[in-house]
Amino acid sequence: MNKSNKSPRDLVREEVLALAAYHVGEAAGMVKLDAMENPYALPQALRREIADLVAGAAINRYPDPQAPELKARLRQTMAIPQAFDILIGNGSDEIIQIIVQALARPGAVLLAPDPTFVMYRMYALVNRMRYVAVPLEPDFTLDCARMLAAIEEHQPALVFIAYPNNPTGNLFRETDVLRILQAAPGLVVLDEAYHAFAQKSFIGRLAEYPNLVVMRTLSKIGMAGLRLGYAAGSPAWMREFDKVRPPYNVNLLTQLVAERLLDHAEVLAEQAAAIRAERDRVKAEFERTPGVTAFASDANFLLARVPDAGKVFAGMKQRGVLVKNLHGGHPLLAQCLRITVGAAEENTQCLAALRASL
Ligand code: PMP
Repeated sequence: MNKSNKSPRDLVREEVLALAAYHVGEAAGMVKLDAMENPYALPQALRREIADLVAGAAINRYPDPQAPELKARLRQTMAIPQAFDILIGNGSDEIIQIIVQALARPGAVLLAPDPTFVMYRMYALVNRMRYVAVPLEPDFTLDCARMLAAIEEHQPALVFIAYPNNPTGNLFRETDVLRILQAAPGLVVLDEAYHAFAQKSFIGRLAEYPNLVVMRTLSKIGMAGLRLGYAAGSPAWMREFDKVRPPYNVNLLTQLVAERLLDHAEVLAEQAAAIRAERDRVKAEFERTPGVTAFASDANFLLARVPDAGKVFAGMKQRGVLVKNLHGGHPLLAQCLRITVGAAEENTQCLAALRASL
């Protein structure tokens, strides 16, 4: 027997007690359009190549913590200039966590537009950074003047900008982002998780802005299950982040399979192009649907405002289509649903379910 009468409530840090766990909805048997995954399977021949790779993998050994082969493939496929180093993570979620941990000096500020990807706030709070959220305009563009004023006032050690933004789907104006890069006294991370669908990047600007790190993920282009994110930036930043990274954070199977898939980047590029075409088709269908307002998207999902998001979400779910209800999360997202672009048949089912649920 243990005689301690302390409960987790007595011992767990207050910041952690106050958090809600990241919620993932039950999706068995549903058309799953809630998490920005790629809907397409890989070609059979490639699946067989992967099976052989896995069969031959030395899983009794730790993986190479520096993953040189994988980094070389990432550098080549993603056009990362030689002068910049690459940091790899167990998803880009872990990259966010690593960067926040490294910069969380007492009193340091993390600043981001609002609404944006929820994990920036979550890791800031867990690591006791002060989180400053700067509201977007009602049309989800950056309020650049307000961002610059907040940067001046709070002198953030770290700014996160999702480009395109989640959950709104839009790309911020390049000129606004450049002004933020120029004004920021600390590091600016451009989170290009949805790059394959926007095809615009700040990677080419790394040499101009020593305070810039560009982050991406393979999750949205077909490898969400592998968990691989990466960031590119100057060696001076990356050396520090690498100290915080758990040494074997990207496992052997992920390294091997990702390398092979990056050798077939053309397959992934074709799938991304199909998703972009479907996105435009679905958006046009939303626009033809009375009661639905669809917002511009450069990502693999669409934000749509409906008269009653709770009712439409429940109606779609009942019809076997799972989307994300954003109502209640932020005033600017009132009555909004976030709908991932799926394969053509899934999207057709989604449109029918949406129209029947309005
Ligand atoms: N950044 C943004 C903007 C995202 O939307 C997401 C996923 N929803 C991530 C990062 C994290 O992706 P992952 O951990 O799968 O790489």
